[in-house]
Amino acid sequence: MSSETPTIAPPQPKPAQTTKVGFVSLGCPKNLVDSEVMMGLLQRGGAEITSHAGEADVIVVNTCSFIDTAKQESVNTILEMARHKTEGRAKKLVVAGCLVERYREEIQKNIPEVDAVVGTGELEQILAAAGIEVTGKAAPSDSPFVILKSGSTALSESQALKSGTRAARPEGQAREAAGRFSRGEWDGAIADLPNYLYDETTPRVLATPKASAYIKIAEGCDHPCSFCIIPQLRGKFRSRHFESVIAEARRLAAGGVREITLIGQDTTCYGEDLGLKDGLALLLERLAEIDELRWVRFLYAYPNKITGRLLETIASNDKICSYIDVPLQHASPSVLKSMKRGAGSEIFLKSIEKMRRAIPNLTLRTSFIVGFPGETERDFLELCAFVGEAEFDWLGVFSYSDEEGSSAHHLEAKVPRREIEARRRKLMAIQRRISKRNKRKLLGRQFDVLALGPSDETDLLWEGRTEMHAPEIDGKLFINDFGDHEALVPGAFYRCEITEAHDYDLVARIV
Ligand code: SF4
Repeated sequence: MSSETPTIAPPQPKPAQTTKVGFVSLGCPKNLVDSEVMMGLLQRGGAEITSHAGEADVIVVNTCSFIDTAKQESVNTILEMARHKTEGRAKKLVVAGCLVERYREEIQKNIPEVDAVVGTGELEQILAAAGIEVTGKAAPSDSPFVILKSGSTALSESQALKSGTRAARPEGQAREAAGRFSRGEWDGAIADLPNYLYDETTPRVLATPKASAYIKIAEGCDHPCSFCIIPQLRGKFRSRHFESVIAEARRLAAGGVREITLIGQDTTCYGEDLGLKDGLALLLERLAEIDELRWVRFLYAYPNKITGRLLETIASNDKICSYIDVPLQHASPSVLKSMKRGAGSEIFLKSIEKMRRAIPNLTLRTSFIVGFPGETERDFLELCAFVGEAEFDWLGVFSYSDEEGSSAHHLEAKVPRREIEARRRKLMAIQRRISKRNKRKLLGRQFDVLALGPSDETDLLWEGRTEMHAPEIDGKLFINDFGDHEALVPGAFYRCEITEAHDYDLVARIV
């Protein structure tokens, strides 16, 4: 008989069941960053993030409510996810984002499967909404930045860079006094405007392709555009602290990110509430000093906020993509006046010329709204002529969406829906011809391409991007000849030659 005494394993405490959370993120990259922050908070709280709705105990739908079609998509997605609760494994359904700011009560009243709602300023509530109990005390934030409610705006540049003081912009204060942020007309919206901003200590689970990440540098908007309800949904303009953005970029770069896209409703106002002049240019200059980063770009610019210093910064720095996305919304002075934006085709053509002179290889993107109330045939023809002359590299056209709560909602002379659609098609046809012609000029030219992965259509083609392509918005670039490479690495850069040009898309070979 063996002298060895058989050992009996002591009873082990049963591991607590990990809650699996599935996320659907709709809308713009700003919403995607909010989803990444919520996923980070949940993961830090002990939850597991799953990409399969069928496996999730909790499903979160982060919604968009910018225009009617976005609202419809949000509602359809909530209903689709609700089926995982009634017929599948999910125990909880949480709705987050812009739709909550707009229809907080209606969502809960009309969709009984929804267990909790989380507004755009309440991201930290996601743990409670998902029923995640955080046992350990969350690590205290070691952020060196203190947000003060008031303070002098007259700081020197170096003071402002170091200081944590954030003050309301006079522009925003005036707009607030004029009722720009009022949600009085909206049933069920809470009166408090969102005021949340994440910082470099906030955990994030990146949902973007390898090597690429967004950084939200500002939230909210103080502009008065009469068609837009984003200020009511997202609150007043506020910038992330300068060093917080740099610290986050450094952390992302150390983790393998090579392309950073700075986002905000209007990134060109960055830092004004911190007392910074040319804050975006200063930020880009510092980000370009981070060795590991290869490309830095920003979305979106407000037309009259593009300064000479910003153009010089882009032109003189290889790492800053020669790319500007400036949504102009229209070209007719009377429509722009009614949109509460101002300017017009003549002023825009001059500033486009200035931009192209300052940055020779500039890629210029814009977007327009057609069918704004009162837009006459003549206004539309002025817009068409402007598009023909300006020759944008990329252009988006939106059909006017009459949003309750926007000041344009009260305007008369609404353009009939069929006419709006006809104008949208006509403008896109003009742009298609311009794009086709300009894409042909790229044949035979070489560019650095960031490889993203096999295309959805076939493994024989890979998708990639040049610095002319912002993530997710612009036309596609396909690599069909890998040169000496047996396989490509997602997130790696390859030198490519353009071999085919289509209306919007390009085909390239690795050289
Ligand atoms: S600048 Fe953009 S986000 Fe701000 S109000 Fe105008 S359209 Fe809306």
